[in-house]
Amino acid sequence: MNEDFIQLEKTYQLAVYPKRDIVLVRGENARVWDSEGREYIDCVGGHGVANLGHAHPVVVAAIRKQAERLVTCSNLFYNDQRALLTRKLVEITPRRLTRVFLCNSGTESMEAAIKFARISTGRTEFVCAEGGFHGRTLGALSATFKPHYRTDFEPLLPGFHFVPFNDFDALQAKVTRDTAGVILEVVQGEGGVHPGRAEFFARVRELCDQTGALLIIDEIQSGFCRTGKWFACEHFDLQPDILCLAKAIAAGLPMGAVLCSDKVSLPVGKHGTTFGGNPLSCAAANAAIEVMQAEKLEEQAREKGAYFRTHLQPESLSKVREVRGLGLMLGIETVQEAQPLVLELQQAGVLVFSAGTHVIRVFPPLTIEYRDLDRVLHSLKEILK
Ligand code: PLP
Repeated sequence: MNEDFIQLEKTYQLAVYPKRDIVLVRGENARVWDSEGREYIDCVGGHGVANLGHAHPVVVAAIRKQAERLVTCSNLFYNDQRALLTRKLVEITPRRLTRVFLCNSGTESMEAAIKFARISTGRTEFVCAEGGFHGRTLGALSATFKPHYRTDFEPLLPGFHFVPFNDFDALQAKVTRDTAGVILEVVQGEGGVHPGRAEFFARVRELCDQTGALLIIDEIQSGFCRTGKWFACEHFDLQPDILCLAKAIAAGLPMGAVLCSDKVSLPVGKHGTTFGGNPLSCAAANAAIEVMQAEKLEEQAREKGAYFRTHLQPESLSKVREVRGLGLMLGIETVQEAQPLVLELQQAGVLVFSAGTHVIRVFPPLTIEYRDLDRVLHSLKEILK
């Protein structure tokens, strides 16, 4: 049975991802099952989407209820779920952010952020970080560093400059009166799980205030409690002018959001979306955020992240160079290439994914039970010893 689905995807799906030969068909919190009934602990979570695990009953009920009421609603009209969600997002994000644009993915939120910064400042240049990842569409890709993702699609948008992450002097040297925005992740995810530094962010904030460049923070991967705070910005008291969100926002339904400060303004009709802010995704997001608040998800991420770090000491593991991250946004830098270890872990029933060649990313649901976290730790210790 497994073979059939694998063969079908191999035949009919355009192969843009390197695939692993299992067919996942069902999930419950941190556990997923393949089509042959084998169980795994899921620390991929749909690429950092499943902060609430799989099939959270409150989210499932909200989706079911909304599917029976209204799934689509043009942005020409108002909608109850969308209205409630926009207010909620403004309430939970850093204080300068007062308005929301809803879209369908991370890359779309970065696309919108780039357009918003250009039209609001009348400028066209951006400064981004080496190692940064912001998406695959042409605007977001222009802000993405890795040549592997970019080169075949050049020319990309002009005016994007790259400086080493956490190097304020290099960044300052690239910011001019033509700079519309500085685009940064707080914790670089694809780049290898590298947290930024407090002093760097503080100085970048100041520089943006002095020069009129907008500070665009990408929390598509780090947002919604993953790092032990609602948003990783809060670790550094960082106030973005634009905040890009996606992934965990609607507990697995496609959604992105751009939170904007009062520095962002654009005339009606200059940007838009058919699916963005659809009632179904909004209902899922409303339910997801309520659950995150009720279950104190940021505390869970903090405590379980600390537990993980206490029980996975790099000194006792010969294949590990470093364990780093914030909360449950965890990266294990390995001595050898990560991918064979990722596959060994899968054999042992633990799904993880790599970031670059030498980092294993471990992104369990923040709701993972300790007995499942112990299974993850046990397998990691066995395979990395
Ligand atoms: N920005 C960051 C930090 C990401 O991690 C990702 C996806 O991995 C994106 C942007 C792009 O998001 P999406 O795949 O939803 O377009």
